[in-house]
Amino acid sequence: MILYDVIIIGGGPIGLNCALEAEKAGLSYLVIEKGTIVNSLYNYPLYMTFFSTADKLEIADIPFISTAPKPGRRDALEYYQGISRQRNININLYEEVLKVTKQENFLVETTKDKYHAKKVIISTGFYDIPNVMNVKGEDLPKVKHYYSEPYPYANQKIAVIGSSNSAVDAALETYRKGAEVTMIIRHSEISKSVKYWVKPDIENRIKEGSISAYFNAEVLEITPNTIIFKDENQTVHEIQNDFVLAMTGYLPNFEFLKACGIKLQGECLNPYYNEDTMETNVSGLYLAGVVCGGKDTHLWFIENSRIHAEIIMKDISTRI
Ligand SMILES: Cc1cc2nc3c(=O)[nH]c(=O)nc-3n(C[C@H](O)[C@H](O)[C@H](O)COP(=O)(O)OP(=O)(O)OC[C@H]3O[C@@H](n4cnc5c(N)ncnc54)[C@H](O)[C@@H]3O)c2cc1C
Repeated sequence: MILYDVIIIGGGPIGLNCALEAEKAGLSYLVIEKGTIVNSLYNYPLYMTFFSTADKLEIADIPFISTAPKPGRRDALEYYQGISRQRNININLYEEVLKVTKQENFLVETTKDKYHAKKVIISTGFYDIPNVMNVKGEDLPKVKHYYSEPYPYANQKIAVIGSSNSAVDAALETYRKGAEVTMIIRHSEISKSVKYWVKPDIENRIKEGSISAYFNAEVLEITPNTIIFKDENQTVHEIQNDFVLAMTGYLPNFEFLKACGIKLQGECLNPYYNEDTMETNVSGLYLAGVVCGGKDTHLWFIENSRIHAEIIMKDISTRI
């Protein structure tokens, strides 16, 4: 039986950073990833641009060279997968962790095998579970919670739900490929967190009427040919609709965190961890990356959570 010093669940940017820090600390480790390397980034919209500059996305001081001031999805895939290849990161792919049990050490059960480790880090992100609207018709095939590229939507009537970066990018891209776009927005304005160079674009397209937008609005029902919503005056509209791009965000896997024994706190179901060590209420079980924010998925991103790997390894090194 192999007993790893640490098993890292999730091979996103932060999981990879944990692996590099573990190696630096001389610890034996294994990363277990349910998809490809940086699977969430692989599933991002094809032509997305990060809001961060390349240097802010770097891990382990390895330079991220990008010709554009803000890198895109392909640049990031090249960077992180390149690191994994060149640094020979010990990672099992297309293997999902199903269960983590604390015994004398940890037993980690996956879709393929069972593993043992003295410590476990959960860096599973939040991109796998859409934050659903819970309205009738949401399960129709025309409703998409992931947006990839604009071309399928040419000449189609699109409803974009939400007003964050993902919604705004989807609205602008599809509009520019000939879609008739209506945005249905729960809040009173376009989100303040929308990329500063994109915000004027969407606001001006709405102002000039190229893209319709309803603020303080709520989706009531989706039918095969229409979408029904109420506006801020409580007036109910039913408009023709071919596709719904529900950019309503994503959630960490709370059931998995609970099953691991991690306490979830407050309205946002924030998983408990000690900020000085990133250790959860389960001794030897750590959290890293954007999973730390619970439902508040805007709290952490690559820029500010890269540091988690270093904090965790410092703690593990003194205890192993
Ligand atoms: C469109 C978009 C743009 C963004 N732009 C920026 C930006 O400009 N700058 C910035 O700093 N941040 C940005 N973010 C946020 C940040 O990039 C991501 O949230 C980032 O991927 C977080 O890294 P992570 O390693 O914590 O989680 P993730 O990258 O989500 O990695 C988690 C990994 O865990 C795997 N996994 C999940 N469950 C299991 C399981 N049970 N078993 C095995 N593997 C599992 C997943 O497949 C995934 O690969 C953006 C996010 C989005 C969605």
